[in-house]
Amino acid sequence: MNPYWLEGLAAQTPALSGEHGADVVVIGAGLCGASAALALAEAGLNPLWLERGFVSVGASGRNAGFVLQGTAERYSRAIGVMGRERARRVHGWSRENHLAMADAVQRFGIDCGYQRRGSLQLACAPEEEAELLESAARLAEDGFAADVWSGADLPACYRDAGFHVGVHLPDDGELHPARFVRGLAKAAVAAGAVLHEGTAITALDAQGAGDVTIRTSSAAGTGTVRASLVVVCTNAYAGEILPFFADKVDPVRGQMLATAPVAPLFGCPVYADHGYDYWRQDEAGRIVLGGWRNLDPASEVGTAEVLHDGIQARMVEFLHRFPALREAPITHRWSGTMGFSRDGLPICGAVPGAPGVMAAVGFTGHGFGFAYLAGQAMAQLVVEGRSDFVDAFSARRFAV
Ligand SMILES: Cc1cc2nc3c(=O)[nH]c(=O)nc-3n(C[C@H](O)[C@H](O)[C@H](O)COP(=O)(O)OP(=O)(O)OC[C@H]3O[C@@H](n4cnc5c(N)ncnc54)[C@H](O)[C@@H]3O)c2cc1C
Repeated sequence: MNPYWLEGLAAQTPALSGEHGADVVVIGAGLCGASAALALAEAGLNPLWLERGFVSVGASGRNAGFVLQGTAERYSRAIGVMGRERARRVHGWSRENHLAMADAVQRFGIDCGYQRRGSLQLACAPEEEAELLESAARLAEDGFAADVWSGADLPACYRDAGFHVGVHLPDDGELHPARFVRGLAKAAVAAGAVLHEGTAITALDAQGAGDVTIRTSSAAGTGTVRASLVVVCTNAYAGEILPFFADKVDPVRGQMLATAPVAPLFGCPVYADHGYDYWRQDEAGRIVLGGWRNLDPASEVGTAEVLHDGIQARMVEFLHRFPALREAPITHRWSGTMGFSRDGLPICGAVPGAPGVMAAVGFTGHGFGFAYLAGQAMAQLVVEGRSDFVDAFSARRFAV
């Protein structure tokens, strides 16, 4: 296991043990937790921020680095599932999320190879072609840019690999995910967040608003934190400490690999086979490729970060459909754990049955499309008591 983005990284802050108190605690240091800690610190609240590994060790440092619009579903399907108006609003939130991330890259000078070259959705079969074309039409009607590429408009490298139709979404982007999140974390700590890595939360006991007990465990020993408010940003792992999420957010594994740098081939991130297969060429020239989870969905579940030999072999087979990549050495292989919510949308806000605890989880494979804004929304909820983003993705939709 060798995640390319995480090479050489380790905890840089001390683990926590003993008895502590805090007004606001943030749990989890992926994109969502970093965004929440930063926004809370900028609001002057000095959150205590706890992470069991190190900043970006979870999905946020193991993904493909796509900054895409929308959910994991193509737009026409999203409309079918949630209706036109809600699909448009959800899509709009992801666009806003991207703009906010781009702003953070600039504001904090984060060196993360951020580029906005768009993304390309490719069809693998005639029915997917039809779905792509319909999605492009609906996107355009709803004010989102979407260009159909077919025939000579589709770059030769895709045509040579057997693809005929694609939809280019010019507003999408890409970045080095771990460097982006670590840049946010650095800004959060500079603004006053108090970060302790290597500190696992083993239990959350919410006795009432303003009275939450957090039990911790680390190499330094066990500990207890009494907090007024707790913001949980642990995505796939939410159910481990909050029973409410145990049957609402499922841990799902994704496989990734990276090659040695090769000559420029792909002009932007690519999504194929309904988003099951994805790849891009990063700023260093490496091909970063992942997915194919649909080959064995029953076993690609759970939180174990293990390789799936069959899926990894199929990924290499696919890579070799591009003649220029047949000799490209594979230098890194890894997996990561996503949190899939039962309805495919993030779940944000107060956690039913746990007074004083709020959460932003369940990003369903598209966390870089929503989690930055979700973290900011958590901070807004703490500071102002409400947030439009939270209203749109509230956990209340699951409460019986
Ligand atoms: C292989 C793969 C490819 C992906 N590709 C993309 C992509 O290209 N674009 C995209 O938008 N999304 C992608 N995703 C999804 C995206 O990475 C996630 O949605 C996003 O990173 C979620 O961020 P997060 O901060 O909510 O969770 P995470 O990054 O998982 O962070 C949660 C943190 O909580 C910590 N934690 C958990 N439990 C505890 C505990 N009890 N105590 C203390 N700390 C705890 C974890 O250690 C972790 O650091 C991909 C995911 C994977 C796995």
